[in-house]
Amino acid sequence: MNTKLQIVRSTSRSPSMLVRLALFLTATILVVSSGCAAVATDTTTPATATTTPVETSQSMPSTVDFHDGHFHLTNYVQQGISIEDYLAIMGDRVGRSTLFGIPLQQTWSYQNSGDYAPTYYLHSDAPLYYYSFTDAYIARLYEKLTPAQQARFDPMITGFNPADMYAVDHIRRVLTLFPGVFSGIGEFSIHKEFVSSKIAGEVASLTNPALDRIFDFCAETGLVAILHNDIDMPFAKPDTEPVYLTETKNLLRRHSKATIIWAHLGLGRVVHPTRSTASAATTERSPVYAQLFEEMLTDPSLSHVYFDISWDEVAKYALATPESLQRMADFLNRYPERFLFGTDNVAPKNREAHFQVFEMYAPLWAKLTPEAKEKILRSNYVRLFDSARQKVRAWEKKNVKGD
Ligand SMILES: [Zn+2]
Repeated sequence: MNTKLQIVRSTSRSPSMLVRLALFLTATILVVSSGCAAVATDTTTPATATTTPVETSQSMPSTVDFHDGHFHLTNYVQQGISIEDYLAIMGDRVGRSTLFGIPLQQTWSYQNSGDYAPTYYLHSDAPLYYYSFTDAYIARLYEKLTPAQQARFDPMITGFNPADMYAVDHIRRVLTLFPGVFSGIGEFSIHKEFVSSKIAGEVASLTNPALDRIFDFCAETGLVAILHNDIDMPFAKPDTEPVYLTETKNLLRRHSKATIIWAHLGLGRVVHPTRSTASAATTERSPVYAQLFEEMLTDPSLSHVYFDISWDEVAKYALATPESLQRMADFLNRYPERFLFGTDNVAPKNREAHFQVFEMYAPLWAKLTPEAKEKILRSNYVRLFDSARQKVRAWEKKNVKGD
């Protein structure tokens, strides 16, 4: 598929190649849509003619490994892989994928790191700042794809500062300027280890009304929100309630009409699952944490909240001990509608790198019921993002004029 895509690109400006181009294009669409039909829309009609193939039948078995609920095309200095390379990496193993950059740009401060050009937030002491152009960049890439390729992506708006009361105006402006493109917002961060404190300007908070305005707008438009919010401080002590748990629940409860995906189960590299003293002593990982989640999953006021298990750091927690693995599997089997898989890869270099997280989780997949596995890897994605596409397109139809 990659070869064909590249041929299409390289010949597309040559009129003498028109016939060959048409043949290649047809072949490419067939290849893409055969991946997608299993896939994208789980429908018997290949999604070749529309950017919004939202007619869905989740009863069709899917042949792809997963749909990716959490994917970054670019990194902290707005560099990454081309969307054609990403399509080649997805191949016939990934059906659909969210598509976003990273809203934060690491400053290259000569004063701080001299000739060393940092590409990650841990590479420099210089601040991060919000790089709103990321949304235009993602939209332009998406708009250049064929309809069949577009059907595989759910682009997300990320280039806003969630501590700014004007953030919502940015989101609205992006939707208005690029109608027909976006399905959601995020991944954006409120509390994130090492990152939050590095961002120039006012620090984000769960109680900031700017955030309420953003989620109100999600409810109004149908945009899905992917929220990164550490549940706890780094290196928290055992037997303590996670510091951000109550504020997060209150925030989520205030926005019951929005569809919100809480990324990484609220965990981070050094934000580990909450422990009790007893479990800390025996290297048992997270019985307390499991209880907190049980409470959230059975709380009707949080039924609009979903959780992604993306990031290899999260996989490490799940796979730490046979007990932690079993606990995670029990959880996912009991509440399969509420979890999504995603890679959280940032501009992966090749297929091997891209499928690493999915492969890491193999022991977890082996413990899931067929129903839970289907939902977490595929059909929850289709349900949430098809619904978002429908609602957002309807909002745009009403609110975007003169197109
Ligand atoms: Zn991420």
